[in-house]
Amino acid sequence: MQLNFSGLRALVTGAGKGIGRDTVKALHASGARVVAVSRTNADLVSLSKECPGIEPVCVDLGDWGATEKALGDVGPVDLLVNNAAVALMRPFLEVTKEDFDRSFSVNLRAVFQVSQIVARGMINRGVPGSIVNVSSMVAHVPFPSLAAYSSTKGAMTTLTKSMALELGPYKIRVNSVNPTVVLTAMGQKVSADPEFSRKLKERHPLKKFAEVEDVVNSILFLLSDRSASTSGSETVCVDLADWE
Ligand code: NDP
Repeated sequence: MQLNFSGLRALVTGAGKGIGRDTVKALHASGARVVAVSRTNADLVSLSKECPGIEPVCVDLGDWGATEKALGDVGPVDLLVNNAAVALMRPFLEVTKEDFDRSFSVNLRAVFQVSQIVARGMINRGVPGSIVNVSSMVAHVPFPSLAAYSSTKGAMTTLTKSMALELGPYKIRVNSVNPTVVLTAMGQKVSADPEFSRKLKERHPLKKFAEVEDVVNSILFLLSDRSASTSGSETVCVDLADWE
């Protein structure tokens, strides 16, 4: 898909690795100026070498104060990709308060915070915008040992629709992508059991996992004017019926 984001400034969270990293590269290649936000500085240093001119911001998005300091004055942003997340794997009965708090602060609270900063800027400038929340199929399909992570993604479904409703009058669209497993570091961790992995592929309509590029393309489509009438949507790729 050949898209042109020239003249626009994008912010991508979780930009150091996986889906976020390739989203930054694709936006940069499509002419956008990109603010790349992530936690590990070495990732941002190597990404800056690959994509000269991007603006790296190193911050732990689970820390509200540090995020406010790092992004409070981020300046004009037209496109936002809320991609950063942690998937802490623990059986439901063993989930600790720390697991819960970390999952919700990174995966959900930071989405509130960064989106508020960016949307306020769009509204003050009187410009339209597009926000994509990177959710997951687990918003709809339970995975073993992912109760905390899945809960954050389930809540993201409601958050996406709420944001779409309230920001729509300002011409700010909000959508989510809900991928199946993608074999990044996170995807390899959650699908490590071969039998589980086989069943998972079997349940997918296309009988396979997604490639990083597939998810990036969906994100770019939702960021672009090609989806100008789409807001409050989420992609769901697995049917819950007869899931074992
Ligand atoms: P990765 O673990 O490969 O990459 C996640 C990136 O987010 C890393 O750069 C990581 O930095 C960063 N990040 C994590 N926590 C923080 C934080 N507190 N502050 C700032 N940056 C942070 O994940 P994926 O690329 O696989 O996942 C990207 C998104 O896609 C997530 O929202 C995930 O839930 C979703 N998703 C992934 C699927 C998969 O199978 N991979 C399936 C469905 C959805 P660092 O490594 O330095 O912590």
